[in-house]
Amino acid sequence: MDTIVLQEPGRFEMTRRDDLPSTPPVGHALVRVHRVGICGTDWHAYRGKQPFFTYPRVLGHELGVEVVAVNDPSSSLKPGDRCAVEPYLNCGQCIACRRGKGNCCVNLQVLGVHRDGEMQQYIIVPTDKLLPSAKLSLEQLALVETLGIGCHAAARGQVQRGEKVLVIGAGPIGLSVLPFLSADGGELIVADVSEPRLEFCRKTAGVRHTIDARSDIIPALKDLTDGDLPTLVIDATGNSASMTKTFDYVAAGGRIVFVGLFQGDVTFNDPNFHRREVTLLASRNALPDDFRRIIKLVEDGKIDTQPWITHRAGYRELLDVFPKWLEPDANVLKAMVSFGGE
Ligand SMILES: [Zn+2]
Ligand SMILES: [Zn+2]
Repeated sequence: MDTIVLQEPGRFEMTRRDDLPSTPPVGHALVRVHRVGICGTDWHAYRGKQPFFTYPRVLGHELGVEVVAVNDPSSSLKPGDRCAVEPYLNCGQCIACRRGKGNCCVNLQVLGVHRDGEMQQYIIVPTDKLLPSAKLSLEQLALVETLGIGCHAAARGQVQRGEKVLVIGAGPIGLSVLPFLSADGGELIVADVSEPRLEFCRKTAGVRHTIDARSDIIPALKDLTDGDLPTLVIDATGNSASMTKTFDYVAAGGRIVFVGLFQGDVTFNDPNFHRREVTLLASRNALPDDFRRIIKLVEDGKIDTQPWITHRAGYRELLDVFPKWLEPDANVLKAMVSFGGE
């Protein structure tokens, strides 16, 4: 089967691998990969900027697959089922796993990051990481993991109906949070330094209030919240300066969720933090319940996936198009690689 290997930063190679058993081990399924979504992790790996990343590596952790063979008597999956894949392989033993938080497992292995992922025609995955849907298209299935990041961040924030929520950063992560905040009745305010991105939020994500973050946003935030400031602030920038400022944007008694991340320290003024009794939360990956919720919302037409996919390519073209997708003026929101299937 064809496999795309990132041999080192900036160099993909198409290889053939024939080491996959046709009968999967117990508890696993052999699946045909149809669609692979590309995200920030893949860009960083290609550029050599993904921390703790080792090469060579097969990328890909956002996928739409079809079951070929199942070796698991306890699973109801059958050949032909189409599935999204939860790419977070957790140990099941550690303190996080024992408490139902496999998303932040101490020994977490993410497909396409810590071990080889899905830029190949077939893979073997544990059956409990496959989430079937008879209704979603292969592309929609490959979008589920992306949306999972946002779904989990929104769940961490526990938004209340009618609550004013500020989302900072309208890139793919910020956009992935919005539909879940809306579904829970949050009143959205989005801040970003890019006017085209804010326009995208207003036109396609149903966001009423956007703020240009190139200058101080506090006056606009006060205007939109009767002087109170938002009680939930979600930072999706992964920018240290932005994350530091969230402590000034949140209302007394409010919550901050960091979903974007960067390699470094965030510092804040303790009296400012204490006076407001702020709750600070991190959000990492997503949980199986997040995946199930997304599939249901997309099946019910409550999330429109149409605007998400801006670029497409067949896997044989990937070596040529990948560097082009990296150009800022390519304006890639989500690029989707096809490994076959309609
Ligand atoms: Zn991703
Ligand atoms: Zn664990």
